[in-house]
Amino acid sequence: MTTPQGISRRRVLTIAAGVAGVSVTGAATVIGTSTPAQAAKVPQKIVKYQDTPKGEQRCDNCELFEAPSSCKNVDGTIAAQGWCTVYRKKQA
Ligand code: SF4
Repeated sequence: MTTPQGISRRRVLTIAAGVAGVSVTGAATVIGTSTPAQAAKVPQKIVKYQDTPKGEQRCDNCELFEAPSSCKNVDGTIAAQGWCTVYRKKQA
Protein backbone atom coordinates (compact mmCIF):
# COMPACT_ATOMS: atom_id res chain seq x y z
CA MET A 1 0.00 0.00 0.00
CA THR A 2 1.23 3.44 -0.83
CA THR A 3 0.14 6.89 0.29
CA PRO A 4 -0.86 9.51 -2.24
CA GLN A 5 2.70 10.88 -1.93
CA GLY A 6 4.15 7.55 -3.01
CA ILE A 7 5.50 6.53 0.37
CA SER A 8 4.58 3.01 1.39
CA ARG A 9 2.79 2.31 4.67
CA ARG A 10 5.77 0.18 5.71
CA ARG A 11 8.13 3.07 5.04
CA VAL A 12 5.99 5.43 7.14
CA LEU A 13 6.00 2.93 10.04
CA THR A 14 9.77 2.47 9.74
CA ILE A 15 10.30 6.23 9.88
CA ALA A 16 7.95 6.51 12.89
CA ALA A 17 9.82 3.73 14.71
CA GLY A 18 13.11 5.47 14.01
CA VAL A 19 11.83 8.74 15.44
CA ALA A 20 10.56 6.92 18.54
CA GLY A 21 13.96 5.30 18.91
CA VAL A 22 15.67 8.67 18.77
CA SER A 23 13.30 9.98 21.43
CA VAL A 24 14.07 7.10 23.77
CA THR A 25 17.78 7.56 23.19
CA GLY A 26 17.42 11.28 23.83
CA ALA A 27 15.63 10.63 27.12
CA ALA A 28 18.33 8.18 28.18
CA THR A 29 20.95 10.79 27.43
CA VAL A 30 19.16 13.37 29.55
CA ILE A 31 18.83 10.90 32.43
CA GLY A 32 22.45 9.89 32.03
CA THR A 33 23.73 13.44 32.15
CA SER A 34 21.48 14.51 35.01
CA THR A 35 22.67 11.79 37.38
CA PRO A 36 26.14 13.24 38.01
CA ALA A 37 24.56 16.64 38.64
CA GLN A 38 22.31 15.10 41.29
CA ALA A 39 25.28 13.37 42.85
CA ALA A 40 27.17 16.64 43.20
CA LYS A 41 27.31 17.98 46.72
CA VAL A 42 26.18 21.41 47.81
CA PRO A 43 28.89 23.94 48.71
CA GLN A 44 29.17 24.62 52.45
CA LYS A 45 28.42 28.30 51.97
CA ILE A 46 25.01 27.59 50.40
CA VAL A 47 23.80 25.63 53.43
CA LYS A 48 25.51 28.00 55.90
CA TYR A 49 27.73 25.25 57.24
CA GLN A 50 29.53 26.08 60.48
CA ASP A 51 32.05 23.96 62.37
CA THR A 52 30.21 24.40 65.64
CA PRO A 53 26.89 22.83 66.70
CA LYS A 54 23.55 24.57 66.88
CA GLY A 55 22.23 23.53 70.25
CA GLU A 56 21.58 19.81 70.20
CA GLN A 57 21.90 19.72 66.42
CA ARG A 58 25.32 18.64 65.19
CA CYS A 59 26.65 16.66 62.24
CA ASP A 60 27.37 13.49 64.20
CA ASN A 61 23.68 13.11 65.03
CA CYS A 62 22.53 14.11 61.54
CA GLU A 63 21.24 11.46 59.14
CA LEU A 64 23.49 12.78 56.36
CA PHE A 65 26.79 12.66 58.22
CA GLU A 66 29.41 10.18 57.01
CA ALA A 67 32.03 9.56 59.66
CA PRO A 68 34.69 10.56 60.15
CA SER A 69 34.48 13.89 58.30
CA SER A 70 32.10 14.07 55.36
CA CYS A 71 28.47 14.50 54.48
CA LYS A 72 26.22 12.93 51.85
CA ASN A 73 24.89 16.34 50.79
CA VAL A 74 27.51 18.93 51.64
CA ASP A 75 30.89 19.27 50.00
CA GLY A 76 34.25 19.40 51.75
CA THR A 77 35.49 18.39 55.18
CA ILE A 78 32.72 18.23 57.76
CA ALA A 79 33.38 18.40 61.50
CA ALA A 80 31.48 15.95 63.70
CA GLN A 81 30.43 18.89 65.88
CA GLY A 82 29.44 21.02 62.86
CA TRP A 83 25.99 22.02 61.65
CA CYS A 84 24.19 23.38 58.58
CA THR A 85 20.70 24.40 57.47
CA VAL A 86 19.88 20.99 55.94
CA TYR A 87 20.45 19.20 59.25
CA ARG A 88 18.21 16.14 59.55
CA LYS A 89 18.01 14.44 62.93
CA LYS A 90 19.22 10.85 62.80
CA GLN A 91 16.42 8.40 63.63
CA ALA A 92 17.11 5.99 66.46
S1 SF4 B 1 24.30 19.05 59.57
FE1 SF4 B 1 24.62 19.54 57.42
S2 SF4 B 1 26.81 19.29 57.06
FE2 SF4 B 1 26.31 18.27 58.97
S3 SF4 B 1 26.00 16.15 58.38
FE3 SF4 B 1 23.98 17.14 58.42
S4 SF4 B 1 23.64 17.85 56.33
FE4 SF4 B 1 25.82 17.37 56.53
